Amino acid sequence: MLDPHRPDRHPLDDEGVDGIAARLSRMVRVRTVEDADAAADPLAPFAEFLALLQELYPLANAQLERELVTERGVLYRWPGSASPGGDGSSSDFDATASGPLVLMAHFDVVPAFEAEGWTHPPFDGVIADGSVWGRGTLDDKGPLCVIMEAVEALLAEGHTPPRDVYLWFGGDEETHSGAATAAAALFRERRLTPWLVLDEGGAVVDAPLPFIDVPAAMIGVGEKGSVNVILEASGDAGHASAPSGLTPTARLARAVSRVERRPFPARLNPVAREMFATFTPHAHGSGKVILETLTRAPQLAAHALARLGGDAAALVRTTLATTRLSGGTADNVLPASASATLNCRIAPGESVASTVRHVRRAIRDREVRIRTTDPNEPTTIAPTDSQQFRLLQGAGRAAYPKAIAAPYITLAATDAKHFQRFAPATYRFAPLAMDATQRAAIHGVDERVSIASLQAGVKFHTTLLRSL
Ligand SMILES: [Zn+2]
Repeated sequence: MLDPHRPDRHPLDDEGVDGIAARLSRMVRVRTVEDADAAADPLAPFAEFLALLQELYPLANAQLERELVTERGVLYRWPGSASPGGDGSSSDFDATASGPLVLMAHFDVVPAFEAEGWTHPPFDGVIADGSVWGRGTLDDKGPLCVIMEAVEALLAEGHTPPRDVYLWFGGDEETHSGAATAAAALFRERRLTPWLVLDEGGAVVDAPLPFIDVPAAMIGVGEKGSVNVILEASGDAGHASAPSGLTPTARLARAVSRVERRPFPARLNPVAREMFATFTPHAHGSGKVILETLTRAPQLAAHALARLGGDAAALVRTTLATTRLSGGTADNVLPASASATLNCRIAPGESVASTVRHVRRAIRDREVRIRTTDPNEPTTIAPTDSQQFRLLQGAGRAAYPKAIAAPYITLAATDAKHFQRFAPATYRFAPLAMDATQRAAIHGVDERVSIASLQAGVKFHTTLLRSL
């Protein structure tokens, strides 16, 4: 049944460019950046973005229930045909079988400056060379856009999902994740246990590992934990002409070099093993031999990957990056204090406590005080033998027929971690193609998404929603 208010053409399609590109372009032009120095109302761009969604997707705006959870988070509910009573609440907290689908994305972005060397200004939303350019096109307005496009298209067809579908869009993922924390609390308060949660994280990549050249739909089944470990040392200030012993700055430098020289143990977790096993039949020649060996000898595999560094090493161990160093007040004054921040990303199977223990042992110095900020334990791991995972695989195949769907552990933090605490089937996958250059552009320069990939992303979500 067609909606009588359905416009024959989306108003933006008259601009002569593909509608979806034009709509994402408008989203990019709203500067949803956390800006402490802003003289104007810092919330204004976030409110503007939420109003833009209402304008761009009139059917969703008219037919879905809409609720502001915080000033920076909006929750849409699309009632399913089997929805009890209409309030969406379930009487049994564990009734995940009838629970809703939650599609998540965030609309805040990290800062970007034209002077960094962008081909097109980061907030102009330029459409060129078959792509939409600008901050947020991949992280995470592009993924948000394809969710809304799919929902709008299905509403235009008169489709009703069999179970409730929630769309959750937060506006502070890149900073404190307060909106998603509030949304997760709201779900728990209403005794709603999602049957499936899908957030950003994985993507369709062209070459998932150095020796595999098939495209892969990488589906995050869990995410690493994180913690900032702060090291502090203090001493007596004084004239730098008569130093005695280690100054706090020298002590900190020694501690940092000790901990940097002692990496965390490398282990191949079960998810990585399954990932290798998934790719093995698709590898050829020496790549296949390497993969078979890695799957058979996990400890060898862990060490080999750790030696590769970068993403490969981050897959198999807790990582540590010294992100800040400070100390001293003048060139000729002995410093009274110094500090260092170690940003740690915690592998599954380890914890905040074991991470701190490792740092303490590596430093071997009781004069260095250790405290932590922003602790987040690694999440649980979502199952890969579930109906939900198979549904994601199927939708991935429909959108990207050549891509192999494989599970992995997301290295960065996402809003999904707040939901995974009570929704076991929480996955991370943005159905957009991202080659290595594009992945490097996330939080970097020249972030862009191809229009073809946006269209495939819409196909992913329409397939997923139709196959519920
Ligand atoms: Zn993101």
